[in-house]
Parts: sequence; C-alpha cells; structure tokens
Amino acid sequence: MSDRELVVLGTASQAPTRSRNHNGYLLRWDGEGFLFDPGEGTQRQMLFAGVTASQVTWICITHFHGDHCLGLPGVLARMALDRVPHVVEACYPAENREVFTRLRHAALFRDVVNLRERPVGGDGAVTAGPSFRLEARRLSHGVPAVGYRLVEPDGRRMLPGRLAAAGIGGRDVGRLQREGRLMSGDRVVTLEEVSEPRPGQRVAFIMDTRLCDAAFALAEGADMLVCESTFANAEAGLAREYGHLTAGEAGRIAAESGARLLVLTHFSQRYDHDPGGAQRLAGQAAAAFGGEVVLAADLERIPVPARRPPAPG
Ligand SMILES: [Zn+2]
Repeated sequence: MSDRELVVLGTASQAPTRSRNHNGYLLRWDGEGFLFDPGEGTQRQMLFAGVTASQVTWICITHFHGDHCLGLPGVLARMALDRVPHVVEACYPAENREVFTRLRHAALFRDVVNLRERPVGGDGAVTAGPSFRLEARRLSHGVPAVGYRLVEPDGRRMLPGRLAAAGIGGRDVGRLQREGRLMSGDRVVTLEEVSEPRPGQRVAFIMDTRLCDAAFALAEGADMLVCESTFANAEAGLAREYGHLTAGEAGRIAAESGARLLVLTHFSQRYDHDPGGAQRLAGQAAAAFGGEVVLAADLERIPVPARRPPAPG
C-alpha cells in the first residue's frame, strides 16, 4: 500500500447512480488524510473503502453545493462516536461559514471533535509546514468555490555510495542535512556532493468550475490532477451555463499546466445511462492532454505517481 494515494469514495455529480456515489475523496499523504468534498453517503463509502474516521486529519470543502458537503454531518458525528483524538482542520470558502456551522450542527450528538476551522478567504497558502504546503485558489462557479493543491517542497535525496566514500555515516548524515557542510577527516564535505535534488510532489484538486486562470495555476506541475469533468465536449454550452468543465477542458488544463496524471471524476448522471458514456469522456480528455488519464471509479485507490526524476545538472 502506497503512503500517498487517492482513495475514491464517490464520483457522481448532482445525482448519485447505481454505480456512483456522490463525490468524496480521501488523499492519503504520509500520516495525513485529506478528506475532500464529502458528499452524501461518504461515511458508508469510507467503510467500503477501508478508511476510518481517525485517518482524516483535514477536511477540505470546495463549495457548499449538496453533492460536495452533505456527507459532512455524518462524518463529523462518526468522528465524535469514534472519539478521534487529534485535531481535525477544516477548510471551506469563508463566505459560507454559516453553512458550515449548520452542517456541523445538523444533528444532535455529543460533539467531542477537536475541529479547527480555517475558512479560506482568498488565494494562497492555507498552511505551510516542512513536509507540505496546502494552497487554495478561488474558482469560477455559481457560488463561492475554491480549488486546492498540496505542494511538497523540493528536497534532496542522500546518496549512500557517496556518503560512504566521503566517510560520513550515522548521526553525521542528519547533521550534514541540517548544516549543509561537515568536516570529514581533513576536508569539508558539502550536502550537494553527497545528494541529488529530489523534486517535491504535487496533487491538485479542482472541482466545480468554469475554465479559469486559477484552475491552470492549481494544476501547474501536478503529479496528480484530480479534476471534475461533469460533461462531454458536446455539452460545452451546458458546462459554461452551470459553471462546470467538459472532459476536453479538463484535458486542456492538464496539458497546459504540465500535469502528469489526470484523474477525471464528478460525472453527470446522464453518462451512466449511456453505454460507453464515461469512456467517451476519458477519450476526449486524453485527446486534449496526451498524457495518462484515469476515469475514477468508486472505491478505487489511485497511487500518486512516483516522483519526477531530478532535473539534469
Ligand atoms: Zn457545484
């Protein structure tokens, strides 16, 4: 099991179907669990997917249309029931704080969840730590909506052969990483000599939006881009009217932003009645992208692709 993967909890947009639950995604990232857009039924989908409430450390809501948030009351109640001990951070568009409050208190239960709300009021970093930065940007939908991305800072990978040749081992490795240089015998060894660049990983999460600059900015250099593709290219007019993307537009965002893996989701129920409908969306996205496209299915686990190779030189 990978330490960084997307657990798909649901892939339907406005209405669920027999094969697709309302939206919901858990991004597992080392010890963190980012729950994006818990739609109705998320608690039970978590059970089917083998995800527990205590794995969730962040809740990130893009906007408050029902398919993106009606699962929140159930998930929070379950966290209380399971007595999840850690702090759970919750991000959502700041304008709709009262909707979040209503959802949080939709039912009567003993609320022992240690929830820290972080309403998102503008573009930029929601939080930044040594292992990741969570960023949000405002998207273009009918209601306040934001997209998210998780960015791991670039680092360096230590090369055991070069460390051994330089006579550095044990605790000195950590010291060299912290201090950048170290005396070994009678010479100075620098971090650069015994390591190589390790590009950080990025995952972008773009839900309901029209094509807009923020979508391209979020997707920039993403190793994994999770993107709504509610409609097929033929329904471009509907997509614009309702503030959504077509499959072709999702592909275009991936292509122009240099994304590596495009995960399509949030499908209109119309394609469930149409044999090959969802496959057609994947084809349209692939035609615009040229890279790898995955059509998300409920309960699937999609690993974040392996790191990019370090840039030469
Ligand atoms: Zn929406």
